[in-house]
Amino acid sequence: MKFNTKTIHGGQEHDKAYGAVMHPIYQTTTYAQTTPGGHKGFEYSRTHNPTRAALEKSFASLEQGKFGLAFGSGLAAIDAVMKLLKSGDEVISTNDLYGGTYRLFTKIYEDFGVKFHFIGMENADRIEDFVNENTKLIWVETPTNPMLNIIDIKMAAGIAKKHSILLGVDNTFATPYLQQPLTLGADIVMHSATKYLGGHSDVIMGALVVKDEELAERLYFIQNASGAICGPQDSFLMLRGIKTLHVRMQRHCENGKAIAHYLNNHPKIEKVYWPGFESHANHEIAKSQMSDFGGMISFVTKGNDYQQAIKIVENLKLFTLAESLGGVESLSGHPASMTHASIPKEEREKTGVVDSLIRLSIGIEDVDDLIEDLKQSIG
Ligand SMILES: *Cc1c(COP(=O)(O)O)cnc(C)c1O
Repeated sequence: MKFNTKTIHGGQEHDKAYGAVMHPIYQTTTYAQTTPGGHKGFEYSRTHNPTRAALEKSFASLEQGKFGLAFGSGLAAIDAVMKLLKSGDEVISTNDLYGGTYRLFTKIYEDFGVKFHFIGMENADRIEDFVNENTKLIWVETPTNPMLNIIDIKMAAGIAKKHSILLGVDNTFATPYLQQPLTLGADIVMHSATKYLGGHSDVIMGALVVKDEELAERLYFIQNASGAICGPQDSFLMLRGIKTLHVRMQRHCENGKAIAHYLNNHPKIEKVYWPGFESHANHEIAKSQMSDFGGMISFVTKGNDYQQAIKIVENLKLFTLAESLGGVESLSGHPASMTHASIPKEEREKTGVVDSLIRLSIGIEDVDDLIEDLKQSIG
C-alpha cells in the first residue's frame, strides 16, 4: 500500500458491530467479562482502548513499523522512551533539541542519574566520539527547531548498530510523508502528533513506532505502568487528521518553497534557513533522506534588530503569533522572546537563535495571500 493510501486505510478496518466507516469513539473505561478473564481483548482503557488501538495501528503503518503507541503528549512519548534507561546510563543528543525535550532530560532525568551529552550533529560521525560502554540511547531530531539543521539518520544508525545502542528519532518536523526513520535504521520513531499528524491545532498527543517486538513489549509495559495515555475522543480526532496528512504536507511543502524563495530575495532579509536551498549546509543529506523540504522556515533580518523582529511578527495578519506548528493555519514565532527566552543570550546565539530570528510554520492557505502578508509586515 502506498503512503497516500495508508493515511486513510493503513491498519484500519470497518467497525465490526455496525459497519461504521469512521472508527467509533469507545468512550469507556472498562469492558464486560463473561467469566474472570473472559473478555474480547479489552479489560481496562489505560491498558487498551479500541479507538486508541486503531490509531496506534495507523501510526505503525505510516512509519513502516510494526507497533505503534499513542500517548497524552509528545513529551509523554519521550518520557516513556527515557524509562527504558536506568541510573548510570548515558544518552547522546542534539545540541539544538526541542526545548521541552531538553528540559525533560536535564531537569528530570539527570536527577535520576542519567547522563546526557548534547552535541552538534551536523557531522553525524562526531556521535561516535561520545560513545562509551554506558551509552544506551542516541536521540536525534531532524530537521531541528528552529534552525532547520539536518542530521544524517543513516550515519547515526550505523554508529548505533555498531555499538548496540538504541537510536530514537523525533520525526515531528518531517512527518512520515517526508521521512521514515525506521527505514533508515532507527529503532524508535517519535512524534509530537500535536503538530503535523493532527494538523488542525486541536489535539495534544504523542506517538512512538518501533519494529522490534521485544522493544515494543517493553514500551507497552511502560505505557500501561506509567499511564500517560491519550483518550478515545483525541484518538478519533487524530485518526481524522491523519487522513489528510499527505495532501496537507504536499501543500505545506509547495507554500514553504515559494515563501523560502520570496524571503531569500527580499532586500531586508539577511538569511533564510530552509533545507531546500542548495546553500544549506546539509542540503544533500536532506535530499537523500527526505522526499521534500517541509513547511518550516526561519529567517533573520539585516541589522539583526530585536525590536524590528518583534514588529514584523506583531504586524503579520494571516500568520498568527503563537507557539506550536504544523497546523493548517500559518503561525509565526520569535524564538528569542518566546520558546528560547529562558536561555541566556550568549548561549542561544551559539546555536543561531539571534535577536532577529523569526520562525514560520507555513500553513496551507493560498500562498499569494501569505506572501502579501509578509510583504506588508516586513515592508
Ligand atoms: C512540540 C514538540 C515536542 C513536544 O510535543 P508535545 O506534544 O507538545 O508534548 C517534541 N518535539 C518536537 C520537535 C516538537 O515540536
